[in-house]
Amino acid sequence: MLTVAEAQRLVQDNVSACSPRRVSLAEALGLTLAESIASDVDSPPHDKSVVDGYAMRFEDLSEGRAELRVIEEVTAGQVPTTAVGGGEATRIMTGAPIPDGADCVAMVENSTLVDADTVTIVSPKLTRGRNITRRGSSMRAGDVVLEAGRSLRPSLIGLAAEVGRSTLLVQAKPRVAILATGNELVDASETPRAGQIRNSNGPLLAAMVASAGGEPITLGVARDERDALRRLISAGLEADMLILSGGVSAGVLDLVPSVLAELGVHEVFHKVSVKPGKPIWFGLKDDARDGTQAKPVFGLPGNPVSGLVCFELFVRPAILRQLRRVDGVRPTVAARLGKRFVHQGDRPTYWPGVRDSMNDVNERLEARPTVMPLAWHGSGDLRGIVPADCLICFPSGDKEYSAGEIVDILPL
Ligand code: AMP
Ligand code: MG
Repeated sequence: MLTVAEAQRLVQDNVSACSPRRVSLAEALGLTLAESIASDVDSPPHDKSVVDGYAMRFEDLSEGRAELRVIEEVTAGQVPTTAVGGGEATRIMTGAPIPDGADCVAMVENSTLVDADTVTIVSPKLTRGRNITRRGSSMRAGDVVLEAGRSLRPSLIGLAAEVGRSTLLVQAKPRVAILATGNELVDASETPRAGQIRNSNGPLLAAMVASAGGEPITLGVARDERDALRRLISAGLEADMLILSGGVSAGVLDLVPSVLAELGVHEVFHKVSVKPGKPIWFGLKDDARDGTQAKPVFGLPGNPVSGLVCFELFVRPAILRQLRRVDGVRPTVAARLGKRFVHQGDRPTYWPGVRDSMNDVNERLEARPTVMPLAWHGSGDLRGIVPADCLICFPSGDKEYSAGEIVDILPL
């Protein structure tokens, strides 16, 4: 049977980034930019006034005072027509271009109108260049201002608009179809009858997909019956990725692997040496329309915690790869076990745990968390993992761990 690391490598090797697509700025928030963008303008595009006031020549001030003739008024959006000469000023508003001849702007608060054409300036602190922002001081035309790979925050979206882009090429969120399988499943809104349980995996997996940066598409529940499975799996194969839950173990109604094979999804692996989650299935559907991109399909075991663990180990890295975040696999970190723990079994176990504050500092002065294994009743016990903020990785083999031993944990 494959090890977790071998299976993760197969996922990494077989999942590629989704093709970028063009979106409007209104749709771009939170997505990853897939192109580099150069400015097509100088910003600001002209020397501009930072204040409302009077554009003038600094040399006209004498002991911080001047009486000037107002020759023109320029508001933002207008262009000055007349150069400012000695003893002259142009009334100017914030953002408007500085007229030729002027080399500073006195603030309107430091001025008094004598009559319609004459203004007195009293501004002892005015200096040459004061209250003027120079053309191109923020960026020059041709400067690359946004690099591919950046996550699009609001400021970046504003900057894209400033440099002339109304659409952006982005690494779109992969559309991930989720299909729960099982004759026993009813919707959360229903009261289960004898033998039935509610479909918790559908909503759980949809939330996990969204948390990994994908766009979940919920396909509901397929009964354990070939026609229903075929129909809903075919619909799911329209998405960028398909996740199935249940039906991949060795029971008589575990039909998922054979129906996938019928639909041309070829198996990459089935079963990984891991607890919980051993029956996990992974395969690829070659897309006839685009031979370069094989579509990943995951068959997760039906028990909710098995599905959750397999999602963290295999599916999340696949979604991050589709998003072009190559460094997607979350590394494990070392932690100190907070209490004694007995591990039994020939498979490595991912056991839910809670980290304590970083209260242990090692010899390299790195803070190391203490981790407490939770009381947990196994792969069907979803409630039991609710307090967990990590999975503790115990290697295969029977071993009694004492409090204080170092273990690896996978943060959730
Ligand atoms: P399976 O992998 O189909 O053999 O299912 C294993 C266990 O998980 C069984 O106890 C199922 O009832 C349970 N199970 C399967 N699918 C779901 C689901 N969508 N939500 C909650 N439990 C499920
Ligand atoms: Mg089943």
